[in-house]
Amino acid sequence: MSSVGIVGGGQLARMLALAGYPLGLRCVVLDPASDACAGQVAPQVHGEYDDLEALDELARRSDVVTFDFENVPAAALAHLADEVPVHPCPAALACAQDRLAEKTLFNQLGIGTAPYATVDSREQLGAAVATIGLPAVLKTRRLGYDGKGQQVLRSAADLDTAWDALGGVPLILEGFVDFTRELSILAVRSLSGEEAFYPLTENRHADGILRLSRAPCADAALQAAAQDCARAVVERLDYVGVLAIEFFDCGGRLIANEMAPRVHNSGHWTIEGARTSQFENHLRAICGLPLGSTAALGPVAMLNFIGRLPPREAFLAHPDVHWHDYGKVPRHGRKVGHATLCADSPAALDALLATLAPQVPADAG
Ligand code: AMP
Repeated sequence: MSSVGIVGGGQLARMLALAGYPLGLRCVVLDPASDACAGQVAPQVHGEYDDLEALDELARRSDVVTFDFENVPAAALAHLADEVPVHPCPAALACAQDRLAEKTLFNQLGIGTAPYATVDSREQLGAAVATIGLPAVLKTRRLGYDGKGQQVLRSAADLDTAWDALGGVPLILEGFVDFTRELSILAVRSLSGEEAFYPLTENRHADGILRLSRAPCADAALQAAAQDCARAVVERLDYVGVLAIEFFDCGGRLIANEMAPRVHNSGHWTIEGARTSQFENHLRAICGLPLGSTAALGPVAMLNFIGRLPPREAFLAHPDVHWHDYGKVPRHGRKVGHATLCADSPAALDALLATLAPQVPADAG
């Protein structure tokens, strides 16, 4: 096993490719964009995701195929799966692509979620609000990411506005969760069924986009509860690779929000902050290699750079700060890089964050 095909050539594919080289694994990415940032570090097949010739070329050049975003067309993945092993499996991707299927699975496995109802018409929206109450969040079932495709409903007057903004595609209404903080867990399961879990990560978002992650962040009981949820999901889906589950922490009770069938932004800290990064472990898992340790090396934080990068000198002046430039052109709302901040104690990490977080520029706008 030496060549891994990746559908999608963004920063996740780029960091997978970089993690592959020391393992003796070569990645090849499929992306239609001429400036796909993974194409700077790995060979790229240029083509749309539904271009059968491009998909065939990716399959020909790969021993196993994975993906770096979850909106891969199901038909494209099915086409690839006829020619080459695809991990995580297309069924896992299909489940994660639909918020209704995802929440149904969580509930079948006894994992708590916000109350929810499907909404396919303006009448159903009224009925769903009558059942679930306000505030609530109306979301598209598919193709939402980074807070896109959702509207918060606070009063009856918001229903028409939200319906005008989102109506016309299948929707889901969720009860608004009054959480204390947002957490995520990354699980990894290998071809042989070996499983490992990273320490819970606390995540702060602004405008629906992740800004700051911090780990480890939970006591043993909460970690065990999150691991139980993740274990149930990966085993039910016969999942291979890294899976992220995002939770709302409601005073020690975990409410699952969504899952991502791939390496995840909230796990970028693992590159320097864990014994084995999520990228390396994803590759190990899908290539049938033993998994590496998921232990954290100490308190760690990750600052996301959205829109544009800060001046790197200010960050590199600190010996335990690591810089990641994704090689992207600055653009509003775009993830262009991140920094990992490692420290010897939570207090030292607080101090580092207090110095560096204010230097992260607001989005370019
Ligand atoms: P999502 O696209 O589902 O990850 O939602 C993006 C962000 O919106 C989440 O990280 C939360 O901060 C917020 N959010 C989403 N769903 C809810 C909910 N049901 N209750 C409260 N906040 C939510």
